This record gives sequence, structure tokens and C-alpha cells, in this order.
Amino acid sequence: MSNRANYEAFYRRSITDREGFWREQAALIDWHQPFDSVLDYNRPPFAKWFVNGLTNICYNAIDRHLAARGEQAAVIWVSTEVDRVEEISYRQLYQRVNAMASLLVEMGITKGDRVLIYLPMIPEAIIAMYACTRIGAVHSVVFGGFASGALASRIDDAAPKLIITADAGMRGGKVTDYKSLLRDGLAAITVEAPKVLVINRHLTTTPCPLPGEVDFAEAVVRHVGKEVPPVWVESSHPSYILYTSGTTGRPKGVQRDTGGYAVAMRASMRHIYGVEPGDVMFTGSDVGWVVGHSYIVYAPLLTGATTILYEGLPIRPDPGVWWSLVAKYHAKCMFTSPTAIRLLKKTGVEWIRKYDLSCLRTLFLAGEPLDKETHRWVSEALHGSVVDNYWQTETGWPILTNFAGLGLLDLKFGSPTVPAYGYETLLMDEHTGEKVGANAKGSLMIKPPLPPGCMTTVWGDDARFVETYFSRFKELYYATFDYAMVDDDGYYFIMGRDDDVINVAGHRLGTREVEEALCTHPSVAEAAAVGIKDDLKGQEIEAFVVLMSNVVPPSEDELKNVVVRQIGGIAKPKFLHIVTALPKTRSGKVIRRAILAIAEGRDPGDLPTIEDAKTLDIIRDAVHLR
Ligand code: ATP
Ligand code: MG
Repeated sequence: MSNRANYEAFYRRSITDREGFWREQAALIDWHQPFDSVLDYNRPPFAKWFVNGLTNICYNAIDRHLAARGEQAAVIWVSTEVDRVEEISYRQLYQRVNAMASLLVEMGITKGDRVLIYLPMIPEAIIAMYACTRIGAVHSVVFGGFASGALASRIDDAAPKLIITADAGMRGGKVTDYKSLLRDGLAAITVEAPKVLVINRHLTTTPCPLPGEVDFAEAVVRHVGKEVPPVWVESSHPSYILYTSGTTGRPKGVQRDTGGYAVAMRASMRHIYGVEPGDVMFTGSDVGWVVGHSYIVYAPLLTGATTILYEGLPIRPDPGVWWSLVAKYHAKCMFTSPTAIRLLKKTGVEWIRKYDLSCLRTLFLAGEPLDKETHRWVSEALHGSVVDNYWQTETGWPILTNFAGLGLLDLKFGSPTVPAYGYETLLMDEHTGEKVGANAKGSLMIKPPLPPGCMTTVWGDDARFVETYFSRFKELYYATFDYAMVDDDGYYFIMGRDDDVINVAGHRLGTREVEEALCTHPSVAEAAAVGIKDDLKGQEIEAFVVLMSNVVPPSEDELKNVVVRQIGGIAKPKFLHIVTALPKTRSGKVIRRAILAIAEGRDPGDLPTIEDAKTLDIIRDAVHLR
């Protein structure tokens, strides 16, 4: 059977025999008590997977592998910030997770309690996450780069009993004082103050004692060698809370279950990522993002594979550092973001060519549009398969992807290929909600129930779950809020966010179409396009372009004409500005709503997840020069 026919059959069965399909996938993990039924969908859109099954993620990710692979590395930690490498075997990880779990129990943490984890990319981040899931506590990991405001709102939302933090993190050799950020965050909270457990790395010279803090190294000594039996939880028991990036509005607290997530993670490694026990996976992301949760922490260990945890920048000490890790540890699968690859692209192909990367079977990229040029460049540089996969914090694993495990389908640059098994995707006209056919654009929707592993609700707010995601049109469909097109072969193309769609004199353009066109100019590094109000045409396009380093700036007309040549006169930007940076979230996504607000002379409002607020002034200055 061809790979395409194989995929079609696999996909079709996941939709037409949903329960049979997922019952088979559920056998990929261990159940302490078997589930009564595969799916309870009596209360749409709330889906419960593997009803009344009892399991534990930590048990499945660690204990289960001890007999066969106790001495195999579970985690390889590489820090180019503090120049350290640590290989942690499954047995050692078991011991360290148990010691921390025992300490958490002593500190009064029990099933259902929330624990906020605010840590840099160190082994204790993984250990803390598993210590929580071992005892049924619900973790909420907050990205280490977030400042006090974002921290405070997440503490208020989850009301954790405990916060696990470090004295400091390092990025590019610069120390970030976590404790002082936490102190300011705690000063702003409205809920009861949580206990604080500190992993002291001795990186800061400015001590910042927090009231009642517990020093991890001192406290854990009494727990070394202790074993804490895994707490068997119902499949629907929450495993964690994680917030979306906040690109389009206030971040949403995604709640994930236990059984469905564990099954989805293990199944995705088999069918999508093509990773099996004993393989090595390197995910260049952060444990604070969904890609880190799923593909640094949970999926690799649920599989019995080895995960590489990297603390540092991808270009330091040199731009070959990631490839050196792939070669050294024989990573079979690598996963990172298009932004990271674009950064490496600027430094030249020789950094990739320097290493023997024959071990690397597939590179996966997700998080934002992967422009055709970058897709082509990295595929050629690696002489290999590069898979664009499209998903969201909400889903926890790919919605649209190609399949290294099942057998790769032909790749098309610019497309994240086809729907993953379990996702019944369709496009609807963003205004009328009518279904659209091949080669027409529309909002990407998913017919519920959402498959296992996806969010089960918004933390503490069932109503917001229904209102936010299931009220886009009159049917109870899940809205991704992305704008897409499907071609005649059933391949999807993501064109941007659906509320950013630009309508010029009746022609609907996704922001990505304009941005991608601009990016084909050899001097352009990145671009953002927005549709500003225009009395005559409805909307006009205003574009902002960041150039590659060390290039002679092209004229604005030259850049506008690139768009005309690629798309047509209709897409010609009315205004185009060359700027030094774009406003982005901490997770690297362009905040177009802020750009649009400034371009239309409005206040961009509260942007708690913005990486650098100074970029707003850059946009303001550019707009003033119109
Ligand atoms: P918020 O929902 O809070 O506004 P966000 O949508 O940026 O923030 P994430 O869950 O981190 O939060 O990002 C998911 C979004 O990222 C997707 O909805 C999509 O817009 C974009 N995205 C992810 N992967 C891809 C991809 N492969 N191609 C194009 N866009 C992608
Ligand atoms: Mg989103």
C-alpha cells in the first residue's frame, strides 16, 4: 500500500470507528484499572476519554521502563550557559522524582493541589513536573522569561499551594534573577500566598530571601532513597494547566486530562514523529511552552526514548551547537520552531554541513508559519525531510502534519500537509459559517469531540471554554481561529489568523500571503502585514519589514512590487515600512493586533506576554512617518 493509501485508511478509521481506533491506541500505555468505555460525549462539547480508567503519567513515563531500560539515558541535559552536561538514566530519574515527590508530600501537597513551576531549563524542571503528576498534583509551568505581572496573574488563576523556582536562570550569559521577579509577582497576588521551594544554582550575587522559602537541596536530603507510590488517578483527572501565548488576546488557561494526554503523546511518537523506545529526540524549545511540555518532557519518556534538554541559545557558543548535539547523541528526531531555523539560516549553511547528521531522520517545525523559502533552505541543507506541523497549546499535539512513523506523504513547501488522525477538520467562511470547498479560504474548524490529549476545558471556567472555542458559528464546532485553504490533493495551507484577514475591495487575503510574498525578497528577514480601515476599499494593507543584517536597504517601492508580482495589484501595500524589529510574544509570535491598533491610531492595550515593549515605539515611529 502506498503511504498515501495507508494514511487515508488510518485517518478514515480514526473518524468512522473512533472508539475502536482509540481503544487500540490506549494499549500503548499501562492502565492500573481498565476503562469502562472509550468515550463519554454526553455533554458536548466536553469529551471524556477512557472513562473510569485509572492510570498515572509518571508511572507510564518512568517506572514502566525501569526493568528494560533502567540504565538508558532518560534525559541528557546540556547547558551552554553554565557549561555542564548531565546524563540522567531512567533509574536515576526515578530516584530523583521520588525524592522530590516525597518532599512535596511532606510539604502537604496532595492530589488535585496546584503547583506552579517557574524554572529555567534545568533537570529539576522535568523532575518537578513528574513529581507532581506522580502524586496527582496539577502543575502550571510558567515560562522562565515571564516577568512579575504575568506570574501574578497565573498565580491568581491557579491558586497554587506551592511554587517551585530557582534563584536564577541564564540566557546568552546574562543572569535573570527569578526570585526577585517572583517576589514582585507575589506582592501583586490576591489569593493566599503559596509556599516557595527554591532550587539554588548559586548564580546570583544579589540574595533575595522570600518569606518561609524552603531550600530544595537542604530539604531533599531527608527524602533521598524514599519511594512514593504513584497515585492512580481517573483518566479525566487534570494533569496540568498551561496558558496560550496571548497573541490574539488574554491568555487562556488550557486544562489537560491524564489518560487521554498520555495515550495521545505515545501515539503521536509512533505515528507522527516516528520515535520508538531507545531512540533520541531533541526538541529545541522551552519547557514553559506546549512544545516543551509535550515533546521535551512527556512524549519522549512515555515512549522510553531519550530526551535532550538544552539550556542556552541556538547560536552560542556558535551556530552549530544544536547540530553538534544531534550528531553527538544520535538524535533521530528533532523539533523546533521556524524562528529558530530562520535565525540559523542567517548564519549560513556551513554550520549544518560541519556535522554528520545521517542519524537525523526528520526535523519537525511548528509554532508559526514556515515560509516556503526557509522550508526549502533547511531541507536542502539537511538533505532530509522537514515536516511543518500545525497545532495549538489547546490541542497539545498536531492537528495538521505529515507522518514520519506511518510513512511520509509527499511534502509540499508551505503546507503542514493533512489532518492528523482523530481530527475532523473543515473550513468555513469566516463571515457566513458556510462550509467552503477546495481552493477556497476559510476559518479552520474541528468537528468535536476533540481527540484525546486536547484541552478538556478552560481552567476553572467551563463557560469560557464553550464561549471561546465553540461559539464561532451556529454549529458546536471547535474554532482554531486560523485561516486556511485546502488544495485539490487535500493539503492544507495556513494563511494567518482568521480575525486578521485583510479584505481589500472584496478580496480576502490572509496576512501570511502578503508576508510570505515579502519574504521572497532576498533582503527581507521577516514581515508583518495588517489591514487598516479605508473608507473606499474597506481595508488597505500596511506592511512592516525587517531586513537581513548587512544588506543594502531596498526601496519601499521595490518591496511593494514584490507583493504585486507574487499576488497581484490588489495586494499592493498602501504603506510599507522598514523597521528594526516587530512586536512579538515571549514565544516568538508576531502580535499583529498591537501593530494594527497602532496603525489605526488606537492604544494597543494591555500586552502581558510581549517580549519587548520597546518594539511598539518602533512601530509608532514608523507609522508617524507615513
Ligand atoms: P492566543 O491563543 O493566546 O492568542 P497563540 O494562538 O499564539 O496565542 P499558541 O497556542 O502558542 O498561542 O499558538 C498556536 C497558534 O500558532 C496557532 O493557532 C497558529 O496561529 C500558530 N501556528 C502554530 N503552528 C503553526 C504552523 N505550523 N503554521 C502556521 N501557524 C502555526
Ligand atoms: Mg491561540
